[in-house]
Amino acid sequence: MSKDKIFQLIKDEEARQKAMIGLIPSENHISPEVSEVLSSSLSSKYAEGYPGRRYYEGNQVIDEIENLAKERIQKLFNVPHANVQPYSGSPANSAVQFALLEEGETMMGLALAGGGHLTHGHPKVTFSGKYFNSIQYGLDDNDRIDFDQIRELAKKHQPKLMIIGNTAYPFLMDFKKFREIADEVGAWVLADISHVTGLVVAGEHPDPVPHVDVVMSTTHKTFRGPRGAMILVTQRGLDRDEKLASRIDQAVFPALQGGPHNATTAGIAVAAAEAARPEFKKYAQQIRKNADVLADSLKKKGLKLVGDGTETHLMLIDLTNYSDGMGLQVAFAMDVAGIYANRNTVPNEPLSPFYPSGVRLGTPLVTTRGMKEAEMKQIADWITRVVEEVKTEVLPSDKVERRTFIKDFRAKALQNKNLLAIRKEVEAMASKFPLFSWD
Ligand SMILES: *Cc1c(COP(=O)(O)O)cnc(C)c1O
Repeated sequence: MSKDKIFQLIKDEEARQKAMIGLIPSENHISPEVSEVLSSSLSSKYAEGYPGRRYYEGNQVIDEIENLAKERIQKLFNVPHANVQPYSGSPANSAVQFALLEEGETMMGLALAGGGHLTHGHPKVTFSGKYFNSIQYGLDDNDRIDFDQIRELAKKHQPKLMIIGNTAYPFLMDFKKFREIADEVGAWVLADISHVTGLVVAGEHPDPVPHVDVVMSTTHKTFRGPRGAMILVTQRGLDRDEKLASRIDQAVFPALQGGPHNATTAGIAVAAAEAARPEFKKYAQQIRKNADVLADSLKKKGLKLVGDGTETHLMLIDLTNYSDGMGLQVAFAMDVAGIYANRNTVPNEPLSPFYPSGVRLGTPLVTTRGMKEAEMKQIADWITRVVEEVKTEVLPSDKVERRTFIKDFRAKALQNKNLLAIRKEVEAMASKFPLFSWD
C-alpha cells in the first residue's frame, strides 16, 4: 500500500519552514518534547468534565496529567486557579465573556483597527460583537492606547467587562492604569496576553496578574507550547467573587465545549516546565533584542514603523508613504523572496483588512531557531530590497480592476529575478538554523 499523500505534504511543509524565514509574530516552533506529546496516545481518550469529576471511565492517568498542567501553570503565573481546557484563544475569550456577562450586557475592547482581536467585541461579524453590547476603544495620535478615551467611554457606557489585549500592537500594555479606570465604573477586567505570554513569564513585559481578575492566553505564541489556550483566575478576581473559578470552568465545559484535547493539555504541561527554565528567560530576552535590532535596521533603511518602533516582539511597517494598500504586494513579494509575514492594517487604515497598508513582523520564530542580532540586520536588508522592488506597484482604486491587478502582480512577482535572487540568499542562511534550538 502506498503511503498517504499527507505524509509527503507534511515533509514539504517542514522543508518550507526550514528554507524560509518566518516573521509572523503569532507563530512559533515547538520543542521536540512538546511535539512528541502531541502525537501520543493521549489523543485517543475522551475526558469530558474536570479531574475527579469526569463523565467517562478510564481517566485515572488523564486526571493526573491535567492536574499537573494546572499546577505548573498556577505556579508559573502565581494564580490560584487555571483552566487549561479551552480549544484555542477565541473559544477561551467567549468562555470568559459568557461567564461574566448576560446576553446584551456591555463590554469594552480594543478595536481591530487599533490592533485589537476580533473576539474583543468586533461588531457585526463576531459572536462577541453580536451577542453583547460591544463598545470599542482605539489609539491616540501617537498610536498608543488612548486612556482618556477609555475613561470617557467607560463612564458613559458603564461596561460590566473591560478587556485589555491585542494582536497587532507593538507597545507594552499598562494593566495598572487600565484597572484604575475599570475600578471607577466597577467593571471586571480581562487581560488577553496571548501574544506576549512568553515575555510576561520572563519579566520582559508587565505582569497583568496583580491588576486584573482574569487572564486569557493562547499557548502557541510566545509561550511556545501546543495550539490551545488557558484561562487564569487571579486572587483579586476570587476575592471579588469566590465563585469566579467555577463560573469560568462551567463556561468552558459544559457551556461551550465538550471533551478536552488531552494531548494538548500534556503539551501545555511540558511547555510550562520549559518556560520555567533559565534558558527560556534568555530566549525571551533575545526575542526583545532581535525585535529592537530589526526595527532599528528597518528604520535606518528608510522604512516607517507604526508608533516609530517596538517595545515587544512585534512591529508594523507602515507603507502609506509609498501608497495606500501596499501591504498585499509587499507581503506577497516577501514570500516569493523567502520571508513570510502577514499583511496588516495600520492605525487609521485608509483601505481595508483585505487590502491593508501595512505588514506585521515579529521575532519569536527566528529567535527559536537561534538567530541573533546579525541575522536581524541581514533580514532588514532583504525586506528593504523587496519593498524597493515592488513599491511602484500601486493598487488601482477601482474594485474590479484591483482583482486583475493582483492576479497579474502575483504572476509577475513569482518570476521576478531580483526576488528569486534574494530567496537564494535567504535559503542559504535559513538552512543553517534548525527549527528549534535551546541556544
Ligand atoms: C491569537 C489571539 C487570539 C485567538 O487565538 P486563536 O487560537 O487563533 O483562536 C485571541 N486574542 C488575541 C489577543 C490573540 O492574539
